Amino acid sequence: MKFKIAVAKGDGVGPEVVDGALIVLDRVSNVFGHEFEYTQVMVGGEAYDHCNDPLPAETIEKIQESQAVLFGAVGGDKWDHLPGDLRPEKAILGLRQALNVYSNIRPGILFPSFATASPLKQEIIKNGFDLCVVRELVGGIYFGEKGRDNKSGVEEAFDVERYNENEIERIARSAFQLAMKRRMKLTSVDKANVLESSKLWRQVVDRVGKDYPMVELSHLYIDNAAMQLIKDPNQFDVILTSNIFGDILSDEISMLTGSIGLLPSASIGEGTMGLYEPIHGSAPDIQGKNIANPVGAILSAAMMLEHSFNLKKEAEAIRFGVNKVFELGYGTSDIKIDGIKILGTKEMADLIAKNIC
Ligand code: NAD
Repeated sequence: MKFKIAVAKGDGVGPEVVDGALIVLDRVSNVFGHEFEYTQVMVGGEAYDHCNDPLPAETIEKIQESQAVLFGAVGGDKWDHLPGDLRPEKAILGLRQALNVYSNIRPGILFPSFATASPLKQEIIKNGFDLCVVRELVGGIYFGEKGRDNKSGVEEAFDVERYNENEIERIARSAFQLAMKRRMKLTSVDKANVLESSKLWRQVVDRVGKDYPMVELSHLYIDNAAMQLIKDPNQFDVILTSNIFGDILSDEISMLTGSIGLLPSASIGEGTMGLYEPIHGSAPDIQGKNIANPVGAILSAAMMLEHSFNLKKEAEAIRFGVNKVFELGYGTSDIKIDGIKILGTKEMADLIAKNIC
């Protein structure tokens, strides 16, 4: 089968880790007989340097002609002085909005062979953990009314957290559907003891939950959820939460897995189009050294095969390849484990590709 993929490598280590993912996709294409057609598109700082726009219209056009987007990362010191609308990070928010991908799925997996890289106590996580955050992506406080005034003579600033029931319902359905494919357990995280928007959130999630009686639904306040994740991440399967709470919790989870370089993400909406990217940024401190961990990008490619192209077997083969390489004792330099055999970015991607069969 033939699939069209827009490839947005971006800045910093973005091109290095995406190249790693392409090595693995090429191997999948050989082993399973699919054809992946790649269209390179410019985003972020690179796009700004070429055409004064971090998300040029041509990029959006090419992406809309594709079936999925594989994204690296954007940003860097070079562009930090630019005003908000021209900053490289604008490309991510702009793309999420252009594609209307409102559901951000972030698996948090601690591979058992990396248990000692986690800061958690070994008795808690010696067998690893496997959970998944479903974060609302295009609403809430990041997109609400914001401003400043000093009417009272004192400088004030505000950001409004506002959700309507339709926005909550669609993200809740996305999370329940995911829970149905996993261990049938969903924890909705809010701050309903204080925030009006969270009270509506809880009400709607309860209502949607009635359509998924097989899924065990529970609610946690965000402060407790942050604590419980450290106490015992294995108690969670799918975590459903708002844009801001999801942003914070998924970074906390990335620390528990040993390295931010390992984690993938998918941003999806109603159809099969999706935006797939590792959760890390452009890591300018390690750019061009062939030491960035490509596994987050490679596992993002696996999520793309599964969700956008319905290639479940092929996605599983990538995850198997990653696991195998870890079991053989290989890793990249960001994984702090005694005795690990360190590989460079390209070498890690090559070895994972070799283990896909
Ligand atoms: P970062 O994720 O780029 O880096 C944080 C730390 O993790 C650094 O020490 C880095 O070396 C390390 N790291 C990140 N990815 C790694 C990988 N694959 N392998 C090994 N180590 C890795 O976050 P930051 O330093 O806060 O941001 C750097 C730039 O990235 C900023 O310009 C920021 O705006 C941008 N950013 C972009 C995205 C995105 O494109 N989605 C997300 C976050 C930050």
